[in-house]
Amino acid sequence: MQKIKMKTPLVEMDGDEMTRILWKNIKDELILPFVDLKTEYYDLGLKKRDETNDEITLQAARATKKLGVAVKCATITPNKQRVEEYNLKEMWKSPNGTIRAELDGTVFRAPIIIPAIKPAVSNWKKPITIARHAYGDVYKATEMTVDEGKAELVFTDLDGKVTRETIYDFECGGVLQGQFNKQTSIASFARSCFNYALATKQDLWFSTKDTISKKYDQTFKLIFEDIYEKEFKKQFEKQGITYFYTLIDDAVARVIRSEGGFIWALKNYDGDVMSDMVSTAFGSLAMMTSVLVSPDGKYEYEAAHGTVTRHYYKYLAGERTSTNPVATIFAWSGALRKRGELDNLKPLIGFADALEKATLDTINGGTVTKDLIPLMTTPATAVYSDEFISAIRNTLEKLL
Ligand code: NAP
Ligand code: MG
Repeated sequence: MQKIKMKTPLVEMDGDEMTRILWKNIKDELILPFVDLKTEYYDLGLKKRDETNDEITLQAARATKKLGVAVKCATITPNKQRVEEYNLKEMWKSPNGTIRAELDGTVFRAPIIIPAIKPAVSNWKKPITIARHAYGDVYKATEMTVDEGKAELVFTDLDGKVTRETIYDFECGGVLQGQFNKQTSIASFARSCFNYALATKQDLWFSTKDTISKKYDQTFKLIFEDIYEKEFKKQFEKQGITYFYTLIDDAVARVIRSEGGFIWALKNYDGDVMSDMVSTAFGSLAMMTSVLVSPDGKYEYEAAHGTVTRHYYKYLAGERTSTNPVATIFAWSGALRKRGELDNLKPLIGFADALEKATLDTINGGTVTKDLIPLMTTPATAVYSDEFISAIRNTLEKLL
């Protein structure tokens, strides 16, 4: 069989622990035999990040800006324990944080759905993709605990003009919080959301509490509305998709009653909470994909889960593990499909579709990793990761 040709290389970001083992296995078994793979390789494994003083992470992010599509393996975000374990020079920042900041991007999380796994909400038939604005608000807030006295909000502009408003005259002790966000960040978030809705041909929902927060949340609502009208409305109408704004509490009720199949954009805190609720209701973190999208349409695909450390320690002890590679496989298929779309390579798009179908057919056929056994509503057998990947390869060979 002739291998499928690529034009532009993918940015390939390798990672850590169990997912690094799966990464190589997926490439060797499911990609390299079929695709004449072109990648620009960046090793974001913790050892290499430490050796390069984390320069490699920035290089990978910049390569993504240049080439447009990346695929990333899960990586360790160092904490105190990791600094000792890897004898690190510094507690390096989260690679995902660095890449997100460099691309000014938004993360979209979507579940991989199969008939044999039923979501907790019985009417959900299609994926619900959550887009979280990962900047500002309570995550960058300034807080105080105070005693009796007057709390004020004070702003000094560049000319020195002071605007002052009383927050509360405390007759007893209390708490205070100062939050902010930036027009530029909200606008980037909006553009990433509109672009991703177009790219995936799904409706976009956005919700805040603008009836109560008449300036703060209202600003989010107005920026979204303005950008939609000026830059995206025509394209949305042409594709037959809609942009829909509603209050957060109304949105929550509608989401539960819906059948899914849309993108739900949320402010930072709302997105943090709702993404955990929605992903749990869909079944498993191991079946959740994650895409970082920049406002100018650059894409980085990965699994939503981490490096699965507990399994890695078993692997190091010589045990075989049944770690689920599905989200990582879908990161590869997502990136290859996007590359195919951008370079107009039909066979590459076809391969990405076949790889996903082979993976889902294997699960539906009853061959799964151990984590899925309690979720399956049809008979299934748990196998080790390498056996699962071989089973997918067998199915894939029949499809191609
Ligand atoms: P994790 O790697 O997602 O794993 C947590 C647990 O979830 C696992 O122990 C396992 O449960 C289950 N699980 C997750 N993915 C699975 C899979 N593919 N197959 C089977 N089971 C799976 O989260 P963590 O243990 O909190 O974090 C480990 C490391 O990953 C940390 O160093 C963290 O910094 C990093 N991390 C990276 C990213 C990223 O790069 N995007 C995201 C999150 C975390 P059982 O042990 O019960 O089998
Ligand atoms: Mg959370």
